[in-house]
Amino acid sequence: MTSKEAPKYIYDFSEGRKELKNLLGGKGANLGEMTHLGLNIPPGFTITTEACLIYFKDPKNLMAKIEPMVLEHLKKLEEATSKKFGDKNNPLLLSVRSGAPMSMPGMMDTVLNLGLNDESVKGVAEQTENPRFAYDSWRRFIQMFGDVCMGIGDEKFERILDKYKRAISRNAHDTDLKVKDLQKVIADYKALYEKEIGSPFPQDPYKQLFVAIEAVFKSWNNKRAITYRKISNIPNFGTAVNIQVMVFGNKGENSATGVAFTRDPSNGDNIKFGEYLTNAQGEDVVAGIRTPKRLEEMNNEFPKIYKQLKSTMIKLEKHYRDMQDIEFTIENGELFILQTRNGKRTPSAAVKIAVDMVKEGLINNEEAIMSIDPDKISKLLFKSIDENAIVRVLAKGINASPGAVSGIAIFDSDEAEKLAHSGEDEIILVRPQTKPEDVHGLYASSGVLTQFGGKTSHAAVVARGMGKPAVVGAQDIEIDEEAKEFRVGETVIKEGKYITIDGTTGRVIEGRVPLVEPEIKGEFLELLEIADEIRTLGVRANADTPTDAKKALEFGAEGIGLTRTEHMFMAQERLPVVQNMIMAQTMEERQDALNKILPMQKGDFLEIFKIMEGKPVTIRLLDPPLHEFLPELSTVLLENQELRMTNSLSKSLLEISPLDEEIKKKKKVIKLIRSLSEENPMMGLRGCRLGIVWPEINEMQVKAIFEAACELKLQGVEVIPEVMIPLIGMISELQYVKAQLLEIAEETIKDYGVELNYKFGTMIEIPRAALTADEIAMEAEFFSFGTNDLTQMTFGFSRDDAEGKFIPVYLNKEILERNPFEILDQDGVGKLMKMAVKLGRETRPGLKCGVCGEHGGEPSSIKFVASIGLDYVSCSPFRIPVARIAAAQAAIMEKEIENIK
Ligand code: PEP
Ligand code: MG
Repeated sequence: MTSKEAPKYIYDFSEGRKELKNLLGGKGANLGEMTHLGLNIPPGFTITTEACLIYFKDPKNLMAKIEPMVLEHLKKLEEATSKKFGDKNNPLLLSVRSGAPMSMPGMMDTVLNLGLNDESVKGVAEQTENPRFAYDSWRRFIQMFGDVCMGIGDEKFERILDKYKRAISRNAHDTDLKVKDLQKVIADYKALYEKEIGSPFPQDPYKQLFVAIEAVFKSWNNKRAITYRKISNIPNFGTAVNIQVMVFGNKGENSATGVAFTRDPSNGDNIKFGEYLTNAQGEDVVAGIRTPKRLEEMNNEFPKIYKQLKSTMIKLEKHYRDMQDIEFTIENGELFILQTRNGKRTPSAAVKIAVDMVKEGLINNEEAIMSIDPDKISKLLFKSIDENAIVRVLAKGINASPGAVSGIAIFDSDEAEKLAHSGEDEIILVRPQTKPEDVHGLYASSGVLTQFGGKTSHAAVVARGMGKPAVVGAQDIEIDEEAKEFRVGETVIKEGKYITIDGTTGRVIEGRVPLVEPEIKGEFLELLEIADEIRTLGVRANADTPTDAKKALEFGAEGIGLTRTEHMFMAQERLPVVQNMIMAQTMEERQDALNKILPMQKGDFLEIFKIMEGKPVTIRLLDPPLHEFLPELSTVLLENQELRMTNSLSKSLLEISPLDEEIKKKKKVIKLIRSLSEENPMMGLRGCRLGIVWPEINEMQVKAIFEAACELKLQGVEVIPEVMIPLIGMISELQYVKAQLLEIAEETIKDYGVELNYKFGTMIEIPRAALTADEIAMEAEFFSFGTNDLTQMTFGFSRDDAEGKFIPVYLNKEILERNPFEILDQDGVGKLMKMAVKLGRETRPGLKCGVCGEHGGEPSSIKFVASIGLDYVSCSPFRIPVARIAAAQAAIMEKEIENIK
């Protein structure tokens, strides 16, 4: 610092205001605002975010600079309260809280009850006439300080606390601890502190204060906070530190503490709601040691204060333009507002409140959208387990497709289909894992449970696409397919027994449980319309069937971003034809099978194009390795063995061999399965490689697409097909495949004599494609990032195995912060995407880029892809409302960050 006068690093609450949010953080600015509103706020001051940023550059220097300023402001607090910091009899106690310019709930640290020590605790005990409170505050302070400021794991303190609770009874709460117990806890806490840190717990309140200030500064850069900033695209503002006088509601019958909501947090009704306790501390309300009284009762007990509180609530809601959750304390008949924050609410309440407030003119459209947590919105579209139901959880798997459903456990897809045909509509398909040949079973069931696999496993992807609940990778269940049962510990669930799966949380529950219907209210639709007005990012759907396409439209899709055509091959009646095609020995045989498949595919395309009239439909050519369409080798081997046994039996008895032909066929199948089997099928003969080795399949698909499109065009239906070639790694692959298919497309169009607006593009799923995107864009008319494969190939994590086998361990050991198959890895995969978009657009300005991997429906990934300039996201129909809101938030946040810059 060269200037003589040090900058203003500290603001009194009375100096704070909204406009200083960047400098004082949200909380500091709000405390200032509340002070200006004339509310009774315990006094305090804020150390600026600017000080925080300088702290990171030169901590010692900054602390030396702010120390005298802190002491000066502290003196003012002592004067205002007639208490003294560190005084034995009447100590001033403080809270030290973080506060960033943009809300980062729970990400950074806070220390309460600061200023207590072995001496002053006695003073507080006497002064409040509540020694239990005093000693409990002291032990809480040691714990918080030890954890937050000194990094002693909270669990170590909890272990000590548990020991003393258990000495009382097995189910004792902290509140059951008497003063004597607390004193023992405190002694153990202090011993722990000394052992861990190497010096005794600081008794000097000034030392406590400055250590706490530094800890709050540092918490800006804790892992949680960094991750949150990254996901939410929050710049490196630094955090402010708020130092505030603590007030107590447990000073007798003329004191109280409570919580009040300006609207009903459960349904969003515009009704004031709250609870309070007389002669109590805030934590007592939360802990529920006494039944709190309803807010209205304050009208009898504290009529004047009740009136005051009500008008404060109205004032605060108006001021903050959101439903407020207010903490208040009455200390000797005087109302203090301790905190106000945007109140937590159920998803349906959130929607109602946001839309109501727009109508009331309290907030604008942007604020309404920002008040919504898009992840929670998906809960409005699925059934959920009644929160009051008592359930027996058998196991926990991966929550692969949201929603809860009860049904009878069925272990075989054919059986599930048979039962569904006979009218059973509550079936849960239970499989070790699902394969394409299980698709009919998935269709027939209401939900799916698998023992293995992750979020991008077959069962997960198909179930999500169908909007059916799925729990996958529930490794604690042991399925015995033959016995048709699964086992978890001692419990055995036999076929036909009811189970419930909760795809939102991953729980597997015994029996049938009460479910709550999804609430799609008028306000929900209104909110989505608001989001559409704001967002710039397009939202498309991943849809493989006409039913999916209809759902997608209903939820507001602007097109289809991915049709996985292989799913069209899997219908029960089609699979044998597909298998014939794969097993064909001659070109004629193959062509014959393809000729049968073509009208089926064309039929599907006709329907989908018609439903999506005027909107782009991206159709991906066949992608998976062909063995996925064939039966399991072990099954065929077994069948072959049985055939041979029957054959030799009839030969010895009747001297005839009726099954010779059958056996010959089976042998052919076995040979084919063996020849198609690969060590590493996800990196084997799949994607565009299939089209290069077996061009006839692609040709048939393109013919089906263009015949369907041209026929509709002739009928006057606007069709915009986009043919997508998967798993390209080299420009030469794309050149080869595209040239061959373009010819077919143009021939077909010529035959029909129509004009058609179509495109040929590619998926970017292989890092090499991203690295050479400038070349790829010479041929590709659009890019769609297949982030499932791109994640798999960038990390070298098998998407079928990683989530079940080691990702949970990685998460546990903090080797990974998040599951990259769920939340886009911005540092690695995201970097490749950013580069690919840039390179691609250098070659082809305005190149349309989208994402169609599972990340396309995940809010933080949506915000990231918006920031790197993608044009659209594509996700399963049921994620579309989530994506619409997340995309609107992305637009608002970009604007906000732009303005701050
Ligand atoms: C992808 O890889 O992201 C993708 C959409 O394709 P699939 O999941 O079908 O491999
Ligand atoms: Mg892929």
